[in-house]
Amino acid sequence: MAYFLDVILPIPLKKAFTYHITDAEATFIKRGMRVAVPFGKNKIYTALAQKVHQSEPLAYEPKTIHQILDEEPIVTESQLHHWQWISEYYMCSLGEVMRAAMPNAFILESETILTKRDTQYPDDNFFTDDEFLIYEALQHQSTLKIDDVSAILDRKRVLPVIHGLVEKGILNLQEELYEKYQPKLVRYIKLAEGYTDEKNLEALLEELNRAPKQRQVLLTYFTMHSTSKKPISVSELSKRSQSSSQIIKALVDKGILEDYHLQVDRVIPKEKQDKSVVLSKEQVTALKGIEHQFQQKDVVLLHGVTSSGKTEIYVKLIEKQLGLNKQVLYLLPEIALTTQLVQRLQTYFGDRVAVFHSRYSSNERVEVWRHLLDTSTPSKIVIGARSALLLPFFNLGLVIVDEEHEQSYKQFDPAPRYHARDAAIVLSNIHNSKSLLGSATPSIETYYNAQQNKYGLIELKTRYNNVLLPDIELVDLADKYKRKHMKGHFSDRLIEEVSETLQEGHQVILFQNRRGFSPIVECTTCGHSPQCPNCDVSLTYHQYRDQLRCHYCGYNTVMIKSCEACGNATLDTKGFGTEQIEEEVKQLFPKSNVARMDLDTTRGKFAFEKIIHSFENREVDILVGTQMLTKGLDFRHVKLVGIMNADNLLNFPDFRAHERSYQLMAQVSGRAGRTDIRGKVLIQTYNPHHNILQQVSTNSYEEMYVEQLNERYSYKYPPIFRIIKVTLKHKDYNRVNQAAEWYCKSLRQVFGAYVLGPEFPPVSRIRNQFIKNILLKIPPNQNLKRTKEAITKIDNSFNAVKDFRPVRVILNVDNY
Ligand code: ADP
Ligand code: ZN
Repeated sequence: MAYFLDVILPIPLKKAFTYHITDAEATFIKRGMRVAVPFGKNKIYTALAQKVHQSEPLAYEPKTIHQILDEEPIVTESQLHHWQWISEYYMCSLGEVMRAAMPNAFILESETILTKRDTQYPDDNFFTDDEFLIYEALQHQSTLKIDDVSAILDRKRVLPVIHGLVEKGILNLQEELYEKYQPKLVRYIKLAEGYTDEKNLEALLEELNRAPKQRQVLLTYFTMHSTSKKPISVSELSKRSQSSSQIIKALVDKGILEDYHLQVDRVIPKEKQDKSVVLSKEQVTALKGIEHQFQQKDVVLLHGVTSSGKTEIYVKLIEKQLGLNKQVLYLLPEIALTTQLVQRLQTYFGDRVAVFHSRYSSNERVEVWRHLLDTSTPSKIVIGARSALLLPFFNLGLVIVDEEHEQSYKQFDPAPRYHARDAAIVLSNIHNSKSLLGSATPSIETYYNAQQNKYGLIELKTRYNNVLLPDIELVDLADKYKRKHMKGHFSDRLIEEVSETLQEGHQVILFQNRRGFSPIVECTTCGHSPQCPNCDVSLTYHQYRDQLRCHYCGYNTVMIKSCEACGNATLDTKGFGTEQIEEEVKQLFPKSNVARMDLDTTRGKFAFEKIIHSFENREVDILVGTQMLTKGLDFRHVKLVGIMNADNLLNFPDFRAHERSYQLMAQVSGRAGRTDIRGKVLIQTYNPHHNILQQVSTNSYEEMYVEQLNERYSYKYPPIFRIIKVTLKHKDYNRVNQAAEWYCKSLRQVFGAYVLGPEFPPVSRIRNQFIKNILLKIPPNQNLKRTKEAITKIDNSFNAVKDFRPVRVILNVDNY
């Protein structure tokens, strides 16, 4: 009987791929091992073994696999189970989940290697210019890759040139697999065999009297060797003996020392400190409450005001799990913002903290993966942003989702478009573990689940140390402008408070949810404003670089001096961003130090850390920033928070805009007065009577919740109804229109009035692609699985229409 293997390929196609395998392979292969398989014309992919069976595919002749890449599975059963759920719930292929889950270095790539054939030297007219460049490069090096060719020819599409050379018999093509992951090796040094004997040693030292530097190295080696049996690295020896590596090399060359390599993990853990906290009475009550609720409920929401000490409660819960030899997953909305937290946890748990960081290199992520697979090591607490939940856990005891309301938990692009909080709860269930969701401003969804008794609920209403929540004052901008009490974008009240805070030696945070200098440049003569050529949006002025930039596609151009339409030099700016606030701060408070934290100032690898550090160390007095400032940062000396303009948050066209405004403002406000003195918050707005602002200023979360939930009922939105957003994209305006009409009509035939659209979003063209949205609302009693099956059917028929096939369709379940 012949054997076959179903595999998962890291591609968006939703079907199983079957290959032919030998009897021996069939007994060796286990689910979750990687295999290299041929795919398409001459590609090699890394696939994941899913199932060995004996039923031959009928529709096609299966190919055979190239090779097995693992000795043992590197993806576990429970992972595969979880991936399956994600792919079904979020309507994507298993391969897309696999690609999101596995570090790139695990997914071996086929790279085309070019080599030169031994043919006689052809005459000059034989080559085109491009071909000659490649031929010449191969005179100097034996192989080239496609990327090298791109570099030589300075362009992307090089395959035709390569094909040309292949046809002329100059090149060989060869598909080659290579392991991308390279363990980091450190060079160590030891005494060569012959010298370990004492007699020889004496003779040696005698001999080295004429080479005092080498003698010095050797003596240092002995000292180091006698005090510790740890391997001695070349760099350490060189440092301790104050000698160059040249001298060490001379000793190696003489055969006195030998060098060897050892692999080290590049995720080097911090030292553990013995520092245990004593919980306050309120914290103890909350902790007990959580543990009590876990006896009946799988999920508990910890609703604790900002700075109530939620983190310390997590720490106690983690401690307990590690004591039981269980693993803990700690999810954060954005790992880059949480160096503070990682440090805090490392002081408690030392090297048992594993950080899974999207900014880590692929190699570093492979190491975390391998650590988790190694079930013989002590269990870990894994901290990471959303993709950490796709790691190979084996005995998870607790999942913590901190700042559970954060929208960055939802993956937007590419698929799988999963919500990490929800996927984490499912993961936790698979492991029979518990989930704790924490927030000062829970999402309406989660609070609703708690109210429905689906989740447990524990509340912490006071701050740690009984510091009062900040005093929040609303400043009426319309009135201030009328009375001419404004300087730039600062009201007199804000200026007073900032001055006072600085005088007292405290720090200030100023929040403005836009980056750049101003979002619109407008000609006062003709009203024209410069637009992005690729997107349907006006360009933002960035004064610092003297540029106009598009925040959607990155397009930029030098700032214009006069209007492109009428030619008059009458350009004005409208609206303002963080750059402008920073400018104004410098003029209003020339003696203070100001820093800015937004996407533009935090691009480098450690840029964040630097800004946070200098603010913590009080080298900076005033920090201006976007919503990056809101996410769980713990600064000890901030007394004042200023929200420059609340209105652009409130007026955002989205059913979650009010909920989000509340969360954002409550969270930024929460940065004020975290230690002993009460903080102050000023919110500048044209609508001081807006309900949300009233609720923020009185810290009335429940009131906000009740009001928002009513709206969700009336307008049929989550958490009452579920939603699936269908987005269609294409560069041709008419085609996207026709396609959207067709799709929408088909959906309506099944779901009737619960289909909204199709509709262009506020920014209807991005990167030259027109965008149209359809929203499907799913009533509480409607079967979710069958709903998705109906959509899939429509999607398949859609893709069967030739004209529609080039239109990209994106299904976003529980769109955020
Ligand atoms: P939250 O996460 O609820 O915003 P944190 O856990 O960051 O609050 O706590 C706020 C501040 O109070 C932190 O600086 C923290 O170190 C301190 N803190 C909280 N609980 C304790 C405790 N039991 N002992 C000492 N300091 C604490
Ligand atoms: Zn653009």
